[in-house]
Amino acid sequence: MIIQLKQPINTTIVDELKVKFARMRKQVFVNNNYLAVIDLDHFDFTDQESAAIDQVKMKTSTYVLGSRMFHPEDTRIKLPHSQIGGSDFTMMAGPCSVESEEHIRRMAKVARQGGATLLRGGAFKPRTTPYSFQGLGEEGLRFLREAADENGMDVITEVMDETHVPMVAEYTDVFQIGARNMQNFSLLKAVSKTRIPVALKRGLAATIDDLLNASEYIASGGNHNIMLIERGIRTFDNKYTRNTFDLGAVPVLQKLTHYPIIVDPSHAVGAWDLVAPMAYAGAASGASGMIVEIHDDPEHAFSDGPQALKPDNYLAMSAHVFALRQLMDSWEG
Ligand code: PEP
Ligand code: MN
Repeated sequence: MIIQLKQPINTTIVDELKVKFARMRKQVFVNNNYLAVIDLDHFDFTDQESAAIDQVKMKTSTYVLGSRMFHPEDTRIKLPHSQIGGSDFTMMAGPCSVESEEHIRRMAKVARQGGATLLRGGAFKPRTTPYSFQGLGEEGLRFLREAADENGMDVITEVMDETHVPMVAEYTDVFQIGARNMQNFSLLKAVSKTRIPVALKRGLAATIDDLLNASEYIASGGNHNIMLIERGIRTFDNKYTRNTFDLGAVPVLQKLTHYPIIVDPSHAVGAWDLVAPMAYAGAASGASGMIVEIHDDPEHAFSDGPQALKPDNYLAMSAHVFALRQLMDSWEG
């Protein structure tokens, strides 16, 4: 049940209601004049209570905290060098993996030059086979952090394991939770206990509701700094693209949730020559930002080389993306 209170809020009534719900052992969440009571579908309000209420919504989604019904305004995430959400468009770029100190420093410069304010790079890699490069671990995180700091950027990097959360937290500004871990509930609970923003990637075979319900684990644990990443899903045809870029999910998610939606054309298409056109499509879909993989020697990349944009291609792509968004901004009003 979501209770929308009249403004100005009658705080005495709210406190009384909270006590009543607590006695019923119901969980209550508050967002300004919205009160979400979990697992409650009927309640006899007193006349005084009813007078303080604008409306009561019985039919809610299972992801209450992430819903627009409970939180109509866009979530905006502020980092030292970036702002994510609302009308801003945020570029995140970097190699798939942190490969060496020198390499990530070179890539950070390129990423920043293309307008990225977040540097990506995995130090813990969720590889399909155990024999592929698994990442440099904590040393990689240090290289990533230093490269970002050198260029006035924030860091986004994947955390794969709940036991690594405190260690990764020392280096990153945003936790990335990979597609393969979208429903790793102990990991979701572990990041929910921090206040570090979380970028949750849509699982390979996850529905939109699966993604939103997974994000609810993070929010219900107390961390509301969430963004969602559409990175392509598995469908019947992966002959020409690694995944199917579900761009329809972007406006759908924006309707359902207040969290910023980010697009990842690199993992969606899996081939560098398809990245730019789908990056434009992703930007045109209205997403709040983009995460893209770059590499100066893709043939020798430690992971995801085939989908990496070389510096010149990335710079051209990002310039076009920002120009496209500027054009779209001019359409407003
Ligand atoms: C990545 O960002 O390099 C990655 C492994 O992504 P995903 O979890 O979407 O496959
Ligand atoms: Mn990758």
